[in-house]
Amino acid sequence: MTARSAALFDAARRVIPGGVNSPVRAFNSVGGTPRFITSASGAYLTDADGNELVDLICSWGPMLLGHAHPEVVAAITEAAARGTSYGAPTPAEIDLVAEIVDRTPVEQARLVNSGTEATMSVLRLARGITGRDKIVKFAGCYHGHADSLLAAAGSGLATLGIPGTPGVTAGTTADTIVLPYNDRAAVTAAFAEHGPEIAALITEASPGNMGVVPPAEGFNAFLAETARAHGALFVSDEVMTGFRVSRSGQFGLDGVEPDLMTFGKVMGGGFPCAAFGGRADLMGHLAPVGEVYQAGTLSGNPVAAAAGLTTLRLATDEVYAGLGTRADQLRAAVSEALRGAGVPHLVQSAGSMFSVFFTDADEVVDYAGASGQDTAAFAAFFHAMLDAGVHLPPSAFEAWFLSAAHDDAAIDKVITALPEAARAAAR
Ligand code: PLP
Repeated sequence: MTARSAALFDAARRVIPGGVNSPVRAFNSVGGTPRFITSASGAYLTDADGNELVDLICSWGPMLLGHAHPEVVAAITEAAARGTSYGAPTPAEIDLVAEIVDRTPVEQARLVNSGTEATMSVLRLARGITGRDKIVKFAGCYHGHADSLLAAAGSGLATLGIPGTPGVTAGTTADTIVLPYNDRAAVTAAFAEHGPEIAALITEASPGNMGVVPPAEGFNAFLAETARAHGALFVSDEVMTGFRVSRSGQFGLDGVEPDLMTFGKVMGGGFPCAAFGGRADLMGHLAPVGEVYQAGTLSGNPVAAAAGLTTLRLATDEVYAGLGTRADQLRAAVSEALRGAGVPHLVQSAGSMFSVFFTDADEVVDYAGASGQDTAAFAAFFHAMLDAGVHLPPSAFEAWFLSAAHDDAAIDKVITALPEAARAAAR
Protein backbone atom coordinates (compact mmCIF):
# COMPACT_ATOMS: atom_id res chain seq x y z
CA MET A 1 0.00 0.00 0.00
CA THR A 2 1.44 3.35 -1.04
CA ALA A 3 -1.76 5.34 -1.65
CA ARG A 4 -1.08 7.88 1.09
CA SER A 5 2.48 8.54 -0.05
CA ALA A 6 1.11 9.03 -3.58
CA ALA A 7 -1.52 11.51 -2.36
CA LEU A 8 1.06 13.37 -0.28
CA PHE A 9 3.40 13.53 -3.27
CA ASP A 10 0.61 15.13 -5.32
CA ALA A 11 -0.03 17.64 -2.55
CA ALA A 12 3.70 18.32 -2.16
CA ARG A 13 4.18 18.94 -5.86
CA ARG A 14 1.54 21.65 -5.78
CA VAL A 15 3.49 23.75 -3.27
CA ILE A 16 7.09 22.49 -3.34
CA PRO A 17 9.10 22.28 -6.59
CA GLY A 18 9.21 18.61 -7.55
CA GLY A 19 7.54 17.81 -4.24
CA VAL A 20 10.86 17.63 -2.36
CA ASN A 21 13.13 20.02 -0.49
CA SER A 22 16.32 18.36 -1.75
CA PRO A 23 16.50 16.75 -5.22
CA VAL A 24 18.03 13.43 -4.14
CA ARG A 25 14.83 12.63 -2.21
CA ALA A 26 12.86 12.48 -5.43
CA PHE A 27 12.83 9.24 -7.36
CA ASN A 28 13.78 10.86 -10.68
CA SER A 29 16.50 8.37 -11.53
CA VAL A 30 14.62 5.25 -10.43
CA GLY A 31 11.06 6.30 -11.25
CA GLY A 32 8.03 6.05 -8.99
CA THR A 33 6.83 7.91 -5.93
CA PRO A 34 8.96 8.72 -2.89
CA ARG A 35 7.70 7.37 0.40
CA PHE A 36 6.55 10.09 2.79
CA ILE A 37 7.90 9.31 6.23
CA THR A 38 5.87 9.99 9.32
CA SER A 39 8.11 8.54 12.03
CA ALA A 40 11.35 6.67 12.58
CA SER A 41 12.81 4.56 15.33
CA GLY A 42 16.12 2.70 15.48
CA ALA A 43 16.85 1.13 12.09
CA TYR A 44 13.31 1.64 10.73
CA LEU A 45 11.25 4.30 9.00
CA THR A 46 7.47 4.23 8.98
CA ASP A 47 5.79 5.72 5.93
CA ALA A 48 2.42 7.43 5.65
CA ASP A 49 0.72 4.12 4.72
CA GLY A 50 2.12 2.41 7.79
CA ASN A 51 4.82 0.40 5.98
CA GLU A 52 7.91 -0.26 8.07
CA LEU A 53 11.14 0.09 6.08
CA VAL A 54 14.70 -0.79 7.03
CA ASP A 55 16.51 2.50 6.51
CA LEU A 56 19.80 2.29 4.61
CA ILE A 57 19.93 6.04 3.98
CA CYS A 58 20.11 7.16 7.63
CA SER A 59 19.29 10.73 6.55
CA TRP A 60 22.24 10.50 4.08
CA GLY A 61 24.65 9.82 6.91
CA PRO A 62 23.78 11.69 10.10
CA MET A 63 21.83 9.01 11.99
CA LEU A 64 24.86 7.04 13.21
CA LEU A 65 23.02 5.78 16.28
CA GLY A 66 19.73 5.12 14.49
CA HIS A 67 16.54 7.14 14.72
CA ALA A 68 15.10 8.62 17.91
CA HIS A 69 17.84 7.27 20.15
CA PRO A 70 16.35 7.73 23.66
CA GLU A 71 19.37 9.59 25.07
CA VAL A 72 19.56 11.91 22.08
CA VAL A 73 15.83 12.60 22.26
CA ALA A 74 16.13 13.33 26.00
CA ALA A 75 19.00 15.77 25.41
CA ILE A 76 17.08 17.54 22.63
CA THR A 77 13.92 17.75 24.74
CA GLU A 78 15.78 19.08 27.73
CA ALA A 79 17.62 21.68 25.61
CA ALA A 80 14.44 22.78 23.82
CA ALA A 81 12.67 23.30 27.14
CA ARG A 82 15.39 25.84 28.00
CA GLY A 83 14.70 27.84 24.83
CA THR A 84 15.51 27.12 21.22
CA SER A 85 17.78 30.01 20.19
CA TYR A 86 19.37 32.89 22.08
CA GLY A 87 21.51 34.81 19.57
CA ALA A 88 24.27 34.81 22.18
CA PRO A 89 27.03 32.34 23.05
CA THR A 90 26.12 29.17 24.96
CA PRO A 91 28.05 26.54 26.96
CA ALA A 92 26.80 23.76 24.63
CA GLU A 93 28.72 25.19 21.68
CA ILE A 94 32.00 24.95 23.58
CA ASP A 95 31.31 21.32 24.47
CA LEU A 96 30.47 20.35 20.89
CA VAL A 97 33.51 22.07 19.40
CA ALA A 98 35.74 20.67 22.17
CA GLU A 99 34.52 17.16 21.24
CA ILE A 100 35.39 17.83 17.56
CA VAL A 101 38.82 19.18 18.55
CA ASP A 102 39.38 16.07 20.69
CA ARG A 103 38.54 13.69 17.84
CA THR A 104 40.25 15.40 14.89
CA PRO A 105 43.43 17.36 14.10
CA VAL A 106 41.62 20.74 14.12
CA GLU A 107 42.61 23.17 16.88
CA GLN A 108 39.60 25.44 16.47
CA ALA A 109 36.30 25.16 14.67
CA ARG A 110 33.31 27.33 13.94
CA LEU A 111 29.77 25.98 13.89
CA VAL A 112 27.47 26.59 10.93
CA ASN A 113 24.12 25.16 9.80
CA SER A 114 24.95 22.89 6.87
CA GLY A 115 27.81 21.21 5.06
CA THR A 116 27.28 23.69 2.23
CA GLU A 117 27.88 26.60 4.58
CA ALA A 118 30.97 24.87 5.96
CA THR A 119 32.64 24.39 2.56
CA MET A 120 31.56 27.82 1.30
CA SER A 121 32.97 29.47 4.42
CA VAL A 122 36.20 27.47 4.47
CA LEU A 123 36.98 28.48 0.89
CA ARG A 124 36.31 32.14 1.65
CA LEU A 125 38.71 31.79 4.56
CA ALA A 126 41.34 30.10 2.37
CA ARG A 127 41.01 32.82 -0.25
CA GLY A 128 41.15 35.52 2.42
CA ILE A 129 44.29 34.07 3.99
CA THR A 130 46.20 33.45 0.75
CA GLY A 131 44.94 36.42 -1.25
CA ARG A 132 44.44 34.00 -4.16
CA ASP A 133 41.26 33.29 -6.14
CA LYS A 134 41.39 29.80 -7.60
CA ILE A 135 40.37 26.54 -6.01
CA VAL A 136 40.94 22.97 -7.14
CA LYS A 137 38.25 20.31 -6.76
CA PHE A 138 37.68 16.86 -8.19
CA ALA A 139 34.97 15.74 -10.60
CA GLY A 140 32.40 13.66 -8.73
CA CYS A 141 33.21 15.21 -5.35
CA TYR A 142 30.19 17.01 -3.93
CA HIS A 143 30.82 19.74 -1.41
CA GLY A 144 27.32 21.19 -1.16
CA HIS A 145 25.59 23.65 -3.45
CA ALA A 146 27.67 26.82 -3.05
CA ASP A 147 28.13 28.35 -6.52
CA SER A 148 31.88 27.90 -6.90
CA LEU A 149 31.61 24.22 -5.97
CA LEU A 150 28.77 23.31 -8.31
CA ALA A 151 31.02 22.16 -11.09
CA ALA A 152 31.13 18.42 -11.85
CA ALA A 153 29.66 17.79 -8.44
CA GLY A 154 28.66 14.14 -8.17
CA SER A 155 25.55 12.38 -7.02
CA GLY A 156 22.66 14.87 -6.96
CA LEU A 157 23.77 16.32 -10.26
CA ALA A 158 24.88 12.98 -11.66
CA THR A 159 21.49 11.55 -10.78
CA LEU A 160 19.67 14.38 -12.48
CA GLY A 161 22.10 14.45 -15.39
CA ILE A 162 22.78 18.17 -14.98
CA PRO A 163 26.37 19.10 -15.87
CA GLY A 164 26.73 22.03 -13.45
CA THR A 165 23.68 24.24 -13.23
CA PRO A 166 22.21 27.39 -14.77
CA GLY A 167 22.43 30.29 -12.35
CA VAL A 168 26.11 29.90 -11.58
CA THR A 169 28.07 32.58 -13.42
CA ALA A 170 30.92 31.77 -15.76
CA GLY A 171 33.04 34.12 -13.65
CA THR A 172 32.44 32.01 -10.55
CA THR A 173 33.35 28.67 -12.08
CA ALA A 174 36.31 30.25 -13.94
CA ASP A 175 38.07 30.18 -10.58
CA THR A 176 37.26 26.49 -10.02
CA ILE A 177 39.68 24.00 -11.54
CA VAL A 178 38.06 20.55 -11.83
CA LEU A 179 40.34 17.52 -12.06
CA PRO A 180 39.77 13.76 -12.36
CA TYR A 181 39.93 12.04 -8.96
CA ASN A 182 42.89 9.84 -8.06
CA ASP A 183 44.90 11.35 -10.93
CA ARG A 184 48.27 12.53 -9.62
CA ALA A 185 49.49 13.70 -13.02
CA ALA A 186 46.46 15.99 -13.43
CA VAL A 187 47.08 17.51 -9.99
CA THR A 188 50.76 18.06 -10.72
CA ALA A 189 49.95 19.67 -14.07
CA ALA A 190 47.27 21.97 -12.62
CA PHE A 191 49.62 23.24 -9.92
CA ALA A 192 52.45 23.64 -12.44
CA GLU A 193 50.21 25.85 -14.55
CA HIS A 194 48.25 27.77 -11.91
CA GLY A 195 50.20 27.25 -8.65
CA PRO A 196 50.59 30.90 -7.59
CA GLU A 197 46.85 31.56 -8.15
CA ILE A 198 45.50 28.57 -6.19
CA ALA A 199 44.13 29.34 -2.72
CA ALA A 200 43.07 25.81 -1.81
CA LEU A 201 42.64 22.28 -2.98
CA ILE A 202 39.43 20.79 -1.59
CA THR A 203 38.66 17.09 -1.70
CA GLU A 204 36.22 14.72 -0.10
CA ALA A 205 38.43 12.90 2.39
CA SER A 206 37.14 9.69 0.85
CA PRO A 207 34.55 10.41 -1.82
CA GLY A 208 31.04 9.08 -1.28
CA ASN A 209 29.12 11.27 -3.70
CA MET A 210 29.88 9.38 -6.93
CA GLY A 211 29.35 6.15 -5.06
CA VAL A 212 32.19 5.23 -2.72
CA VAL A 213 35.50 5.84 -4.51
CA PRO A 214 38.30 5.68 -1.93
CA PRO A 215 41.56 7.56 -2.40
CA ALA A 216 44.35 5.43 -3.86
CA GLU A 217 47.10 4.58 -1.37
CA GLY A 218 48.95 7.79 -0.51
CA PHE A 219 46.70 10.06 -2.62
CA ASN A 220 45.57 12.34 0.23
CA ALA A 221 49.15 12.74 1.47
CA PHE A 222 50.22 13.59 -2.07
CA LEU A 223 47.47 16.22 -2.31
CA ALA A 224 48.53 17.81 0.97
CA GLU A 225 52.18 17.93 -0.09
CA THR A 226 51.44 19.29 -3.55
CA ALA A 227 49.12 22.02 -2.29
CA ARG A 228 51.56 23.13 0.40
CA ALA A 229 54.53 23.10 -1.98
CA HIS A 230 52.67 25.79 -3.94
CA GLY A 231 51.54 27.86 -0.95
CA ALA A 232 47.93 26.61 -1.22
CA LEU A 233 45.87 25.20 1.65
CA PHE A 234 44.78 21.57 1.74
CA VAL A 235 41.11 21.32 2.70
CA SER A 236 39.64 17.95 3.59
CA ASP A 237 35.85 17.75 3.40
CA GLU A 238 34.75 15.25 6.04
CA VAL A 239 31.08 16.24 6.02
CA MET A 240 30.15 12.68 5.04
CA THR A 241 33.06 10.67 6.44
CA GLY A 242 33.65 12.64 9.65
CA PHE A 243 32.69 10.71 12.81
CA ARG A 244 31.29 7.97 10.56
CA VAL A 245 34.13 5.95 9.04
CA SER A 246 36.01 6.11 12.35
CA ARG A 247 35.86 8.03 15.66
CA SER A 248 37.31 11.03 13.79
CA GLY A 249 36.61 10.15 10.17
CA GLN A 250 38.92 9.42 7.23
CA PHE A 251 41.69 11.15 9.23
CA GLY A 252 41.43 8.25 11.67
CA LEU A 253 42.12 5.84 8.78
CA ASP A 254 44.90 7.57 6.83
CA GLY A 255 46.29 10.11 9.34
CA VAL A 256 46.79 12.83 6.71
CA GLU A 257 46.61 16.21 8.49
CA PRO A 258 44.77 18.86 6.49
CA ASP A 259 45.19 22.62 6.95
CA LEU A 260 41.44 23.08 7.14
CA MET A 261 38.54 20.64 7.44
CA THR A 262 34.77 20.61 7.12
CA PHE A 263 32.30 18.50 9.08
CA GLY A 264 28.52 17.99 9.15
CA LYS A 265 25.98 15.16 9.18
CA VAL A 266 26.86 12.92 12.22
CA MET A 267 28.05 15.86 14.34
CA GLY A 268 24.55 17.40 14.20
CA GLY A 269 22.75 14.28 15.39
CA GLY A 270 20.03 14.86 12.77
CA PHE A 271 19.83 18.64 13.20
CA PRO A 272 21.10 21.36 10.85
CA CYS A 273 24.57 21.69 12.32
CA ALA A 274 28.01 21.57 10.68
CA ALA A 275 31.47 23.03 11.21
CA PHE A 276 34.71 24.06 9.63
CA GLY A 277 37.99 24.12 11.46
CA GLY A 278 41.74 23.89 11.30
CA ARG A 279 44.94 25.21 12.76
CA ALA A 280 44.42 28.07 15.20
CA ASP A 281 46.66 30.43 13.20
CA LEU A 282 44.42 29.91 10.16
CA MET A 283 41.10 30.07 12.03
CA GLY A 284 42.34 33.30 13.66
CA HIS A 285 41.75 35.05 10.33
CA LEU A 286 37.98 34.82 10.91
CA ALA A 287 35.89 37.73 12.21
CA PRO A 288 35.65 38.96 14.92
CA VAL A 289 39.39 38.52 15.55
CA GLY A 290 40.43 38.41 11.90
CA GLU A 291 39.48 40.09 8.65
CA VAL A 292 37.45 37.33 6.92
CA TYR A 293 33.73 37.75 7.57
CA GLN A 294 31.51 34.77 8.36
CA ALA A 295 28.33 34.63 10.45
CA GLY A 296 24.98 32.90 11.13
CA THR A 297 21.81 33.77 13.09
CA LEU A 298 21.24 30.15 14.14
CA SER A 299 24.87 28.94 14.11
CA GLY A 300 25.66 26.83 17.18
CA ASN A 301 21.97 26.50 17.92
CA PRO A 302 21.56 25.06 21.44
CA VAL A 303 19.15 22.26 20.48
CA ALA A 304 21.32 21.20 17.52
CA ALA A 305 24.43 21.34 19.70
CA ALA A 306 22.74 19.10 22.31
CA ALA A 307 21.77 16.57 19.61
CA GLY A 308 25.26 16.59 18.10
CA LEU A 309 27.15 16.42 21.35
CA THR A 310 25.03 13.57 22.72
CA THR A 311 25.40 11.66 19.46
CA LEU A 312 29.18 12.04 19.45
CA ARG A 313 29.52 11.09 23.11
CA LEU A 314 27.56 7.90 22.45
CA ALA A 315 29.63 7.12 19.34
CA THR A 316 32.22 4.99 21.11
CA ASP A 317 34.86 2.70 19.67
CA GLU A 318 32.43 -0.21 20.16
CA VAL A 319 29.87 1.56 17.97
CA TYR A 320 32.40 1.92 15.16
CA ALA A 321 33.54 -1.70 15.53
CA GLY A 322 29.92 -2.89 15.38
CA LEU A 323 29.24 -0.81 12.25
CA GLY A 324 32.26 -2.38 10.61
CA THR A 325 31.00 -5.89 11.32
CA ARG A 326 27.51 -5.12 10.01
CA ALA A 327 28.90 -3.50 6.89
CA ASP A 328 31.06 -6.57 6.18
CA GLN A 329 28.03 -8.81 6.58
CA LEU A 330 25.87 -6.72 4.28
CA ARG A 331 28.54 -6.23 1.60
CA ALA A 332 29.09 -9.99 1.45
CA ALA A 333 25.36 -10.69 1.20
CA VAL A 334 24.82 -8.12 -1.57
CA SER A 335 27.69 -9.54 -3.60
CA GLU A 336 26.51 -13.10 -3.10
CA ALA A 337 22.99 -12.27 -4.25
CA LEU A 338 24.09 -10.27 -7.29
CA ARG A 339 26.67 -12.90 -8.24
CA GLY A 340 24.02 -15.59 -7.86
CA ALA A 341 21.78 -13.75 -10.32
CA GLY A 342 24.65 -13.05 -12.71
CA VAL A 343 24.49 -9.27 -12.27
CA PRO A 344 27.82 -7.53 -12.93
CA HIS A 345 28.66 -5.37 -9.92
CA LEU A 346 31.40 -3.98 -7.75
CA VAL A 347 31.24 -3.13 -4.05
CA GLN A 348 33.63 -0.39 -2.85
CA SER A 349 34.11 0.73 0.76
CA ALA A 350 35.61 3.35 3.01
CA GLY A 351 35.45 1.88 6.49
CA SER A 352 31.82 0.97 7.13
CA MET A 353 30.64 3.25 4.31
CA PHE A 354 30.11 1.42 1.03
CA SER A 355 28.27 1.48 -2.25
CA VAL A 356 27.37 -0.96 -4.98
CA PHE A 357 28.25 -0.14 -8.58
CA PHE A 358 26.20 -1.90 -11.24
CA THR A 359 29.14 -2.25 -13.60
CA ASP A 360 31.47 -4.91 -14.97
CA ALA A 361 34.53 -2.78 -14.18
CA ASP A 362 37.10 -4.26 -11.78
CA GLU A 363 37.59 -0.94 -10.04
CA VAL A 364 36.05 2.54 -10.04
CA VAL A 365 38.68 5.21 -9.36
CA ASP A 366 37.00 8.37 -10.64
CA TYR A 367 33.79 9.96 -11.82
CA ALA A 368 34.16 8.77 -15.41
CA GLY A 369 34.31 5.20 -14.12
CA ALA A 370 31.39 5.71 -11.78
CA SER A 371 29.27 7.11 -14.61
CA GLY A 372 29.47 3.88 -16.60
CA GLN A 373 26.82 2.11 -14.55
CA ASP A 374 23.74 0.17 -15.58
CA THR A 375 21.28 2.54 -13.93
CA ALA A 376 18.29 0.58 -15.27
CA ALA A 377 19.50 -2.54 -13.42
CA PHE A 378 19.94 -0.44 -10.28
CA ALA A 379 16.40 0.97 -10.62
CA ALA A 380 14.94 -2.54 -10.84
CA PHE A 381 17.00 -3.64 -7.84
CA PHE A 382 15.99 -0.54 -5.87
CA HIS A 383 12.26 -1.04 -6.42
CA ALA A 384 12.39 -4.74 -5.55
CA MET A 385 14.17 -3.86 -2.30
CA LEU A 386 11.63 -1.14 -1.55
CA ASP A 387 8.73 -3.52 -2.19
CA ALA A 388 10.35 -5.87 0.32
CA GLY A 389 10.61 -3.10 2.92
CA VAL A 390 14.17 -1.82 2.46
CA HIS A 391 14.75 1.90 1.84
CA LEU A 392 17.93 2.25 -0.26
CA PRO A 393 19.24 5.56 -1.59
CA PRO A 394 17.22 6.17 -4.79
CA SER A 395 20.33 6.60 -6.92
CA ALA A 396 23.12 4.36 -8.17
CA PHE A 397 25.61 7.08 -7.23
CA GLU A 398 25.10 7.10 -3.47
CA ALA A 399 26.64 5.40 -0.46
CA TRP A 400 24.50 3.11 1.69
CA PHE A 401 24.50 4.02 5.36
CA LEU A 402 24.15 1.81 8.42
CA SER A 403 23.54 2.75 12.04
CA ALA A 404 24.31 1.21 15.40
CA ALA A 405 20.60 0.33 15.59
CA HIS A 406 20.83 -2.04 12.61
CA ASP A 407 20.58 -5.24 14.59
CA ASP A 408 20.29 -8.86 13.41
CA ALA A 409 16.58 -8.50 12.67
CA ALA A 410 17.08 -5.42 10.47
CA ILE A 411 20.05 -6.92 8.62
CA ASP A 412 18.17 -10.21 8.14
CA LYS A 413 15.28 -8.34 6.55
CA VAL A 414 17.71 -6.79 4.06
CA ILE A 415 19.49 -10.08 3.36
CA THR A 416 16.17 -11.88 2.81
CA ALA A 417 15.15 -9.26 0.23
CA LEU A 418 18.40 -9.42 -1.75
CA PRO A 419 17.97 -12.55 -3.97
CA GLU A 420 14.65 -11.41 -5.49
CA ALA A 421 16.03 -7.87 -6.02
CA ALA A 422 19.12 -9.31 -7.66
CA ARG A 423 16.89 -11.35 -10.00
CA ALA A 424 14.93 -8.17 -10.84
CA ALA A 425 18.23 -6.42 -11.68
CA ALA A 426 19.17 -9.31 -13.97
CA ARG A 427 16.03 -9.01 -16.11
N1 PLP B 1 30.30 17.87 1.62
C1 PLP B 1 30.05 16.55 1.48
C2 PLP B 1 31.20 15.59 1.35
C3 PLP B 1 28.74 16.08 1.44
O1 PLP B 1 28.50 14.77 1.29
C4 PLP B 1 27.68 17.01 1.56
C5 PLP B 1 26.27 16.55 1.50
O2 PLP B 1 25.96 15.46 1.14
C6 PLP B 1 27.98 18.36 1.71
C7 PLP B 1 29.30 18.76 1.75
C8 PLP B 1 26.89 19.38 1.83
O3 PLP B 1 26.26 19.25 3.06
P1 PLP B 1 24.77 19.80 3.28
O4 PLP B 1 23.86 18.94 2.47
O5 PLP B 1 24.57 19.70 4.76
O6 PLP B 1 24.76 21.22 2.82
